Amino acid sequence: MKDNIKNLKAYVPEEPLDVLMERYGLDRVVRLSANENPFGTSPKVRDTITNSFLESNRYPDGSAEKLRETVSNFYQVAQEQLVFGVGLDEIISLINRTFLTDGDEVLLNAPTFSEYALNAEIEEAVPVYVPVKSDGHIDFDALKQAINDKTKLIWICNPNNPTGTYEDLAAITEFVKTVPEDVLVVIDEAYLEFVTDETDNSAMHLVNDYENLVVLRTFSKVYGLANFRVGFGVFSPKLANYMQTVRLPYNLNSMSQQVAVTALQDQDFVKKTVQKTKEERELWEDWLRENKIIFYHSQANFVFIQLDNANKVAEYLKTKGFLVRNGLQPGWLRITIGNTEDNLQIRDLILEAK
Ligand SMILES: *Cc1c(COP(=O)(O)O)cnc(C)c1O
Repeated sequence: MKDNIKNLKAYVPEEPLDVLMERYGLDRVVRLSANENPFGTSPKVRDTITNSFLESNRYPDGSAEKLRETVSNFYQVAQEQLVFGVGLDEIISLINRTFLTDGDEVLLNAPTFSEYALNAEIEEAVPVYVPVKSDGHIDFDALKQAINDKTKLIWICNPNNPTGTYEDLAAITEFVKTVPEDVLVVIDEAYLEFVTDETDNSAMHLVNDYENLVVLRTFSKVYGLANFRVGFGVFSPKLANYMQTVRLPYNLNSMSQQVAVTALQDQDFVKKTVQKTKEERELWEDWLRENKIIFYHSQANFVFIQLDNANKVAEYLKTKGFLVRNGLQPGWLRITIGNTEDNLQIRDLILEAK
């Protein structure tokens, strides 16, 4: 077996809520650790599930034609630019598998989403970290300076998980321009829909100008479809072709394809989710300022906050039925923005614990 795999740590998935309820003797556990949509899913998705006839004995549409057409029309990108995955997780893994080999270097911001590094290491590539600036923003100058002959891939998570900070399209464009053509730049826009500081903010259309650019999206966050595992990448047609060769032929089941189509067509649900998130995000920021807690200005559906005893606070919250994410950066917690009532409750509990 590959020696390097022996030293890798698996991604730690969320524990099932019923297991936690039993362990802590609670009637209810509120998960604010996974950036899921606290407002549910489009009600139309439910109808799709009950009405759709699942042909269990048949393989699904391996090229996801209907979903491809719908996404292509909605985002105004060509159908042959799209590669769908079992969650964005699969696309992240596929990019690493397709483009990296032993000794290649991958540039990452620190902190950022842990799966980029894990997947690089599986391919025996080397993650090289560039710390974010003191305000949480990406240090583009330092990233540029870190590019060398071995650099093959650069990950930009925008807004960044876990900092929540957003880089505007001008900054992204400026950066992409300076990257050598043989280095792939991947912009993970898992949270882009939650950005309200700038409209018209996606880097998706830059893919037409820069063949070495890839933009990623998921249905797990704003669309509230985490359980169905649908994500996609927008590539230049040439790179999309390589990815299609490496991808498993029947990765997305029919139900997932169908619910993603339905969810995309209900932009009303998306608008409501974004509006609610924005309102609650502002309340969080007011509260953080009032209580003199250090945080980064978030454009995502979570806040990233600094507390001296962050791990203890996380443990205390868990016993009270609130799950948050610690261990991403020492002394910091990432908390998904929940519904109004849960946000009020968890904020009181944080004051109690701190
Ligand atoms: C949640 C998340 C993903 C993965 O999403 P799935 O589509 O559920 O696999 C990818 N990137 C970032 C930054 C995320 O936070």
